[in-house]
Amino acid sequence: MYIDLCEQFSCQMCGTCCRNHWQVTMDEASYRRNEALFTASGRKNEFAQAFIALDGQGGYGEYAYIAKQAGGGCWFLDNSNMCLLHKEAGHSHLDAVCRTFPRYPMNTARGIEITLSFSCPAVLKLADRDEPLRIVRSETQPIDLVDNNYAAEIYPQQQPDMQPLRYYFELETHFIDLLQCRTMPLSERLAFLADTAKAVNGLSQDRTIARKLTALFNRNYDWLDALAVTRTPAEPEAGIGLLENFFVSLLFKKPFYIYGFEKTLRLFDHMWQHIMNADDIAKTIMKLEFQYGHDRQALLR
Ligand code: SF4
Repeated sequence: MYIDLCEQFSCQMCGTCCRNHWQVTMDEASYRRNEALFTASGRKNEFAQAFIALDGQGGYGEYAYIAKQAGGGCWFLDNSNMCLLHKEAGHSHLDAVCRTFPRYPMNTARGIEITLSFSCPAVLKLADRDEPLRIVRSETQPIDLVDNNYAAEIYPQQQPDMQPLRYYFELETHFIDLLQCRTMPLSERLAFLADTAKAVNGLSQDRTIARKLTALFNRNYDWLDALAVTRTPAEPEAGIGLLENFFVSLLFKKPFYIYGFEKTLRLFDHMWQHIMNADDIAKTIMKLEFQYGHDRQALLR
């Protein structure tokens, strides 16, 4: 299952992701693979400069990281935005981060689900369209994924009874429907989503939660149907497709499941305020997405 942009994405070799402030980390297997490559070609010194062991200071699965050039770009980035390691040893030789970005794979009870990072300019360009994002259900993945390199693990059946997150997939579908309901301006859709999420959160510990969730969804759909009859659809705002697609993709990354209702609503509100006050919406989306990928806790406070 993946958002349809995954089918259309191809790297434009702009080098943006290779010049970001993030540290590209790797596991020990990748570190040893590179050690063997550089040793075999008599470049032990370069290996020691380019691959910095973390000596146990990294997080889970982080054994080493790739050094930067003086200007901040990746050690292996050349002047024409080519990756020298890719050129020399092929895509399959790269570490999981470089092989996966900008894809964002998640391991879920429905199977592997994938969206993309809007911090990549090529993704942003694809997402800047009037057409709503589609969630594609398919047995076949749009790319070969690196095993066990998932950004999230989503198993709603492991949630306690009477907890809304036990019904996470139903909630996600409903929330996406609300975000994509174009009878309302996006600000109103986000407010409606927030009200609905608060109502859902209020059902914790309710023995009849399943029935009440269904009733809530049906009430919302009835209300939206009635709205569609009475309200003249607003003129589409410039760039609104990109904004809607950004929030849908963000929701598909499942922050409601991972961080809960209150934190996620604060996150959405924070992002919306930033975007509304921005001179350049596309750049702000890229920045927020980058922050979500690499300094999430600051956004979730
Ligand atoms: S930012 Fe996107 S398009 Fe640019 S090099 Fe990275 S993956 Fe490719």
